[in-house]
Amino acid sequence: MRIDPSLSPTPESWLAANAPDAPVFFFHPERLAEVAREFRAGFPGLVTYAVKANPAPEMIRALHGAGITAFDVASPAEMALVRAHAPGAALHYHNPVRSAAEITVGVEAGCVSWSVDRASELEKLRSLPAGTEIAVRLKLPVAGAAYDFGAKFGATPDQAAALLRRVAELGFTPSLTFHPGTQCASPEPWARYIAEAAAVARSANVVLHRLNVGGGFPAHRDTDRPDLQAIFDTIREVTEGAFDTAPQLVCEPGRALAAEALTLALRVKGVDEEAVFLNDGVYGGLAEWRDIAPMSRVRPVAAAGGALCGALRRRIVFGPTCDSIDRLPELLPLPGDLAEGDYLLFEGMGAYSRALVTGFNGYGVRRVVEIEKQS
Ligand SMILES: *Cc1c(COP(=O)(O)O)cnc(C)c1O
Repeated sequence: MRIDPSLSPTPESWLAANAPDAPVFFFHPERLAEVAREFRAGFPGLVTYAVKANPAPEMIRALHGAGITAFDVASPAEMALVRAHAPGAALHYHNPVRSAAEITVGVEAGCVSWSVDRASELEKLRSLPAGTEIAVRLKLPVAGAAYDFGAKFGATPDQAAALLRRVAELGFTPSLTFHPGTQCASPEPWARYIAEAAAVARSANVVLHRLNVGGGFPAHRDTDRPDLQAIFDTIREVTEGAFDTAPQLVCEPGRALAAEALTLALRVKGVDEEAVFLNDGVYGGLAEWRDIAPMSRVRPVAAAGGALCGALRRRIVFGPTCDSIDRLPELLPLPGDLAEGDYLLFEGMGAYSRALVTGFNGYGVRRVVEIEKQS
């Protein structure tokens, strides 16, 4: 995807000046740096970025420039990406199942932390250098996330204790990690996981080097901004109370770091009383809308750049492809005077959007325009 600089101060003015017929992502580097600062100032430990949320080179460079010095990678391609755009950054290889060839690449790339969730995968790591950090991935049946991350990876507390003992026996540095699920609205899942992590370490009789509390931090999807500081405070307090020797804390947010970096602008291709047809949909930048609750930060903009004031009408929103599942699951309230050629601006679209764009039926977002902060 090419990235164009913009002399326009806002997405609205750029749209009015350029009238693009294809979808556009607007990149806001200063918003990204601001969220990185919020995490680094508020989180009581090391902040790493989960690359899968948005693996664009400019994201990696901007986060590195904003002081993010470690990245959570899941594949050789993500390792190469971080090496190219954040030289010197630490790599945490936290995909718990790896092929032999992937392990070789991970060693060559110098990954400093590896996660495992089963004995068979730990045995595959025996040739790693002594002292390498191996983090056992714990799973619990917790509610509160937009969808459950324990459904694929993770060891139960008993399995995790046995794995932790084995990690220590093999001469590696033992840590624990978990992922509470994405878009967790409250601190509760972290409190439960951290208490259980302390119990697992105690029953294994292992002193943890680090505790990685995962991603899952909420992005701003609805009217209110989520309270990240309340989550950070809970993580600090529960960790201090639960352990005799508190491990160093690490987090690996993807969504919450990336979301504010992009605004997605889609154009209305056709409209009637019941339905609106956009130039992108669930096969493109709106890929997540089928799996997680919709977000309400949608701003209609007239083709000429002004606001639309018609009474809201709930309509079906279709994407551009010829597939009948290419639609948003819910009706969207949109102004009655929305017309062909107008735009919808979707705010907070930096995570799991650009990374999931397909070229199905010849559509998909191809263009990124950088909005520079005006002084
Ligand atoms: C996806 C993922 C993350 C990031 O999750 P978010 O919900 O986007 O913060 C962090 N860690 C691991 C291991 C992941 O798989």
